[in-house]
Amino acid sequence: MTAAPTARTRLLALLGDPVEHSLSPAFQNAAIRAAGLDGCYLALRCSAADLPGLLLGIARAGGGGNVTLPHKELAAATVQNATAAVRRTGACNTFWMQDGEVWGDNTDVVGFTQAAHALLGRPPAGARVLLVGAGGAARAALAALLDAPASEVVLLNRSPERAEALRAAFAAEPGRVRVAPSLDRLAGERFDLVVNATSLGLRPADPLPVPLDGAPAADAALDLVYSPGGTPWVRALRERGVPAADGTEMLLHQGAAAFQRWWPAPAPLEAMRRALAPD
Ligand code: NAP
Repeated sequence: MTAAPTARTRLLALLGDPVEHSLSPAFQNAAIRAAGLDGCYLALRCSAADLPGLLLGIARAGGGGNVTLPHKELAAATVQNATAAVRRTGACNTFWMQDGEVWGDNTDVVGFTQAAHALLGRPPAGARVLLVGAGGAARAALAALLDAPASEVVLLNRSPERAEALRAAFAAEPGRVRVAPSLDRLAGERFDLVVNATSLGLRPADPLPVPLDGAPAADAALDLVYSPGGTPWVRALRERGVPAADGTEMLLHQGAAAFQRWWPAPAPLEAMRRALAPD
């Protein structure tokens, strides 16, 4: 945020419910300051009924923003033009005005790709991946994994029918995707990467998304939930010597990609990183 907003200050807004916990205002305003831009990023809690009007209104007034739970699918249906990432995932997390029309992108896809690369030290090309969850974050992760391309993605979700629906949504794309009906069926298997795309880990009382004992072996683990110092699952896996990362890197890179949709300037990645993990 600029020190004092002017009549030319652009409004960027996070639209969702809840939004109070979000780190996006902190690191996007740090990025705006670092790049010397005249903008202000705010979090606005809003209902589904208000989402379309707010999204279109803010964009047409020269601003833009992000969309979070539970409105990403509604946002995909609201924007006038959608990138391939939105069309594939049915979800939009970033909006802006371009050539007189409101556009939407899903930067969670590139955010996941960058986070997986950072963890593995290479893209997950050729990897066998266990993807736990079947909501919006899992959709973005699956799109990214098929792009890599991973050699096989096994979907596991509390509600198997939702995992089946996710597999079916990507059935036209090349790539091997199968649904595991339960964790027991994966006993003895080994994965290059296990991804938590459920919301387990947000609350202190949550069970681990994948139990430590009796679970398939994992060479690395990526938790899309983020927490300072790592989520309980990430910390437990690290104690066992498994390379593991929480969702901070994905958050950073989805935010950097969104920044570049809004501003004619490269995203100041290090300033954003510092704002996400202050000393
Ligand atoms: P969502 O669409 O609501 O999906 C939630 C997922 O969690 C579903 O698969 C759901 O299973 C599962 N789940 C919820 N409660 C569970 C429980 N008690 N036991 C087992 N599974 C449970 O949410 P989303 O948008 O995919 O987001 C998921 C998480 O990803 C969020 O916590 C968010 O913080 C994180 N995320 C992080 C980033 C990042 O940049 N790091 C970006 C996007 C999302 P059912 O289908 O059975 O309900």
